[in-house]
Amino acid sequence: MVFSAPSFDDHEKVVFGYDEATGLKAIIAIHRKGPKGRALGGCRMVDYKSEEEALNDVLRLSRGMTFKSAVSGLALGGAKSVIMGDPAKKTPELLRAMGKFVDSLGGAYYTSVDVGISADDVDVMSSVTKYAVSGGDPSPMTALGVYQGIKAATKAKLGSNDLNGIRVAIQGIGKVGYGLAEYLAQEGAEIFVADVNAAALDKAAQELGAHVVDLDAIWDQNVDIIAPCALGASVNDDTIAQMRASIIAGGANNQLAHDGLAEVLKDKGVLYAPDYVINAGGVIQVDSHVDMFSEDEVRSRTMGIYDTLLRIFERAERDNITTLKAAEDEAIARMNAAMAEAAE
Ligand code: NAD
Repeated sequence: MVFSAPSFDDHEKVVFGYDEATGLKAIIAIHRKGPKGRALGGCRMVDYKSEEEALNDVLRLSRGMTFKSAVSGLALGGAKSVIMGDPAKKTPELLRAMGKFVDSLGGAYYTSVDVGISADDVDVMSSVTKYAVSGGDPSPMTALGVYQGIKAATKAKLGSNDLNGIRVAIQGIGKVGYGLAEYLAQEGAEIFVADVNAAALDKAAQELGAHVVDLDAIWDQNVDIIAPCALGASVNDDTIAQMRASIIAGGANNQLAHDGLAEVLKDKGVLYAPDYVINAGGVIQVDSHVDMFSEDEVRSRTMGIYDTLLRIFERAERDNITTLKAAEDEAIARMNAAMAEAAE
């Protein structure tokens, strides 16, 4: 069941936790530990339909964290945890039981926020373990990283990182999308926004001069860049067929409905900035509370997303591979180098 699960991919450790008193049912998956023997990944609480669904989710997300940390040059491996249950029904007792479960791994696994688990929830966990880190609101750093990633993408695709007059369509003008729009507006980009939240759209129009477009129309805008900043899987066969932009670079997680679409984008001549590279500002901020580095360092590492993406784009071009594959190759190279250095 575990070893043969579709997303098993050689996980180092998969642990199941149960607490009778609170009804906690949780799974912690450690895909790889980093050079300092620890791995980080948020805790997600979802009312999964089955144990199999929860297991596959935690394995898939944990593997993704390995690549995200490695490509960002962090000294962390990848891990994740899931709590099976309705987040509306979570209690402090349940969260403390989860904290004790995290603690039982002795620091091999650090947890943080994710879908269904807020910074306040992580703070409750941290009353029983030092391995739960909320790390403040990561959105501003994520937005800064996405902004830098967009500059790298225009440099690679359009020959300049000057965004003055560049047209960007942002899908989802929430915490990350709005922060990104502020940077873009400051630099003179023309912004188009779509969201399900009318108040967020009004604010973007009034304060940043953004053009509001219909939800369904965002993909076929006559723009240079599409920045998905809402939900996952928004890049699919339909939206690719509609799009006129030559760059996809945004903050949302899991943007591609399936990995094969990276090849479709490459064939169409669209430059895709792999999501886990461009949106790593948040994890860099959380890591600063684990590996103890300063706010200045958080900022400079987030700014480094620009160079990381340029390297990935160059590698993709040189090896005639997708940017997704190039990001994976870059992550593995950085991970191997860090492990070799730690072994010396
Ligand atoms: P958010 O909830 O603040 O913003 C999401 C926005 O998308 C909201 O304004 C919402 O109304 C809008 N939206 C929802 N459905 C939509 C639809 N169908 N079409 C258009 N807009 C829609 O969330 P956020 O923190 O800004 O995160 C945005 C994305 O970035 C998510 O995929 C998240 O996983 C990812 N991400 C966020 C961070 C972070 O630091 N916040 C870090 C890494 C990745």
